[in-house]
Amino acid sequence: MNYEPVIGLEIHVQLKTRSKMFCASPNNPDETEPNRNICEVCTAQPGSMPVINKEAVHMAILVGLALGCEIPEYSKFDRKNYFYPDLPKGYQISQFDQPICGAGIQVVEYEGKKRPIRITRAHLEEDAGKLIHEGSTTLVDLNRAGVPLLETVTEPDFRTPAEAKIFLQNLRNIVRYLGVSDADMEKGHMRCDANISLRPAGSQDLPPYKIEVKNLNSFKSVEAALNYEIKRQSEMQESGEKLTSQTRGWDDSKGITVEQRTKEQAHDYRYFPEPDLPIMHFIRGDVEKIRAELPELPAQKEERFISEFSLQDRDAGVLVNDKNLAAYFEEVVSELEEWFKEERLEADIAKLAKMAYNWISGDLQALLKIEGIDPQNSRITAENLAELIKMIHQGQVSTTAAKRILEVMFETGGDPSHVAADEGLSQVSDEVAITAVVDKVIAKNANVVADYKGGKKQALGFLVGKIMAEMKGKANPQVASRLLEEKLH
Ligand SMILES: [Zn+2]
Repeated sequence: MNYEPVIGLEIHVQLKTRSKMFCASPNNPDETEPNRNICEVCTAQPGSMPVINKEAVHMAILVGLALGCEIPEYSKFDRKNYFYPDLPKGYQISQFDQPICGAGIQVVEYEGKKRPIRITRAHLEEDAGKLIHEGSTTLVDLNRAGVPLLETVTEPDFRTPAEAKIFLQNLRNIVRYLGVSDADMEKGHMRCDANISLRPAGSQDLPPYKIEVKNLNSFKSVEAALNYEIKRQSEMQESGEKLTSQTRGWDDSKGITVEQRTKEQAHDYRYFPEPDLPIMHFIRGDVEKIRAELPELPAQKEERFISEFSLQDRDAGVLVNDKNLAAYFEEVVSELEEWFKEERLEADIAKLAKMAYNWISGDLQALLKIEGIDPQNSRITAENLAELIKMIHQGQVSTTAAKRILEVMFETGGDPSHVAADEGLSQVSDEVAITAVVDKVIAKNANVVADYKGGKKQALGFLVGKIMAEMKGKANPQVASRLLEEKLH
């Protein structure tokens, strides 16, 4: 039988607030000394009282609006009761029936097909601490306890693991564009649980069971775990085994999911309203003010790059995936546009934008990756890269020379015309100089010249190669080729 996967996601995003969700302790995920960022509230001392972090509420609403969620007029916090050593209060402050963000919608594009994914809700809650196991001892580090988390829950609308992965990547891009989280999955800023079940293809009913998969800490593992579950569940169904709801953990090193608990062992969290915090009331006008703060979001930027610069979908997607790279690209293109305007030249922005894209996503990004830095922190300013592209466009340097110039610029921060002069990499377009070499090459290669005249057209390439070699790669190949052809006719 053919099965169709039914997949939903729950994603926790750590918000980059200055202080924690309900106290003034610093929220610093890079703190290495255990229990440095703690106070009486996040360590649950008797009599301590939580206070709602306004910055976290603001950030949550920004994300909600970016995801197309409704922002309800009222929202409240609830206690989610469970016992675990990294949770000193014995309950987590979360949101149960009145989340800060209500239903929303996000479009996911996969293999050219766009499908809407319904978002159920997004709610604020606090993170737990961390347990550190050392031999037979377990230590507790509460630096992370009380750090604000925004949990986004989707409807089971994904039909392929790839769609789920794309949704996650889009969400990461959105929160990065909003500046509310670094959303680095490997560092735990963003954590994902997925639920998956199978139904006969064509059926509209939700399957009678649900498998929740936890410990997915990279985009790759989300896709791999879901693919693993599709295979495992369809094999079980084929052999007539009955699937029941359970929670499974993804073992990345083995590439398998492992049973953690069944539905019978599911927690009863005994949610009840948090009595120490007020109900939040959002006035429409205030929500609209926050909406006005929304920057251009990744999907809008991608569309604009395609329409404004005629970039390919794929290329625009690569740029938009990295907020800083996209901003740098735009600066380079605007420098190029400026130059065209000043020199009153016919502007082919699509061609220049493509060149800018190729240099940025290719050679420049390779250099940036080695250093682990953003283009904004490199020594190559957008203005200097634009000048290099201009020099290539005008035939002042060859592509090979430009690669070398880019490397020197990356190391020294010099501007391309000076680097080209210092390194002797300027391309010779001087026809007198090239003609002299053309004559020399023709004289030395009489046989090849005869072949060419006898109809062997590819002999021309060989001769151009000889000219380039003679001039140590500095001749403009177009000029050399034209002069050679003129001589041979
Ligand atoms: Zn605290």
